[in-house]
Amino acid sequence: MAMNNAQSGKLFYVIGASGSGKDSLMNFARSRLASVGKIIFAHRYITRPPEVQGENHVYLSNEEFKHRKKQGFFFMHWESHGLCYGIGSEINLWLANGYDVVVNGSRAYLSTALEECPETQVILVSTSTEVLRKRLLKRNRETPEEIEKRLHRATLLCNIEHRQLITLNNDADLAQSGAEFIKILTNFDSREANKPALRPASNPMQIKFLGTGNAPGVPVRGCTCDACIRANTITSYRREPCAALVEIGPAKILIDAGVMDLKKRFPEDTLAAILLTHFHPDHVQGLFSFRWGGREKIDTFCPVDAEGCSDFYKNPGILNFKSLHPFDDFDIAGIRVTTVPLVHSRPTLGYCFEHPSGKLAYLTDTEGLPQKTAAFLCNWKPDLLVLDCSYPPSEQIPRNHNDITMALKFFAEIKPKKMLLTHIGHQLDVWLNNHERELPHGLEIVRDNDVVTLER
Ligand SMILES: [Zn+2]
Ligand SMILES: [Zn+2]
Ligand SMILES: [Zn+2]
Repeated sequence: MAMNNAQSGKLFYVIGASGSGKDSLMNFARSRLASVGKIIFAHRYITRPPEVQGENHVYLSNEEFKHRKKQGFFFMHWESHGLCYGIGSEINLWLANGYDVVVNGSRAYLSTALEECPETQVILVSTSTEVLRKRLLKRNRETPEEIEKRLHRATLLCNIEHRQLITLNNDADLAQSGAEFIKILTNFDSREANKPALRPASNPMQIKFLGTGNAPGVPVRGCTCDACIRANTITSYRREPCAALVEIGPAKILIDAGVMDLKKRFPEDTLAAILLTHFHPDHVQGLFSFRWGGREKIDTFCPVDAEGCSDFYKNPGILNFKSLHPFDDFDIAGIRVTTVPLVHSRPTLGYCFEHPSGKLAYLTDTEGLPQKTAAFLCNWKPDLLVLDCSYPPSEQIPRNHNDITMALKFFAEIKPKKMLLTHIGHQLDVWLNNHERELPHGLEIVRDNDVVTLER
């Protein structure tokens, strides 16, 4: 997500449960406002072919979407129910020129949007449960059980706390609610009276991949393979060694520290904890300088490993090392964390995160999975499984890390809703260049700076 701070227009971010009538309201206001005054309704880019009845979005194929995402052409992007959604970075230009912009947003992406752009005006289109139930029944697309689930989700959606949130009740007919919506978009002063009481925030869990490469990263110094040449030219193809950030609202948990710019990324005492999978240098190297600064000690969880790495135990600085055993569980910032053993040349733990918004397992480095871990995961049913896969399919059994063949086997066995591969080496990137399309639906490759939000 990119943000232009010099903007002078107002950004309206409209959210609402399915069936709330948000799209009809958007169309109503668009047809009356979009060609007059200084207000623009942003088209969404979606990987869903256009429908006659539906939203007037711009269709992109999965490949086109990925390509634009890599080039940084989206102001914001997210995934929901297997589709990719994007708002183009052209809205920066409109805002900078003093135009107000109306965006059809996603609840799951709201917390990030507000972090990046605190001045965003959020509009929640809400409907009473009874009216929504009637509308969904009339639409006749789902079974009564599915409808009740939807209604439950719609209730959860209303648990939003933000000082700039306006709730627009859409129980009335379109002409009346539409007029109200137009009033909100065109008349800022009438907003004060319409603020709901504050409710507890319910932020979804989110993972940001800071580094997705193996120890040498991509490009490998001096290498002339296709992947390394590409990464030398286009920065978005570069891979730093492994690190990831799990976030819930303002709480940040760092997993591993392969990236070297931690001081820049976390200048204040902003980390709730650090979780180390193991003590290989490509997973802890960013901590060598990071440990010397900050006011507060940071709990740094790690597997039991007498050696550690270099002088960490002797000179921990702000790192408060706490060792963990397989299948320990504990809470950090409202997330339940469970450790699972992995197979590697050093004692290594994977971390499983459980939160109302979903279950995330982060497993690297590992060659295969111990029987106990595979059994735990089959039973636990992760929504998102992040797995070490360093190599393309290979003749010999790979050492210390998975190859694609092994990753496919675990994808079939554990059946996560989605699986992402990380700790990727340059030869795998070369292989993926020709074979990425052959991967089964739900199995994807991550790149540095990708963000995935869990939503149920
Ligand atoms: Zn590694
Ligand atoms: Zn290479
Ligand atoms: Zn390792």
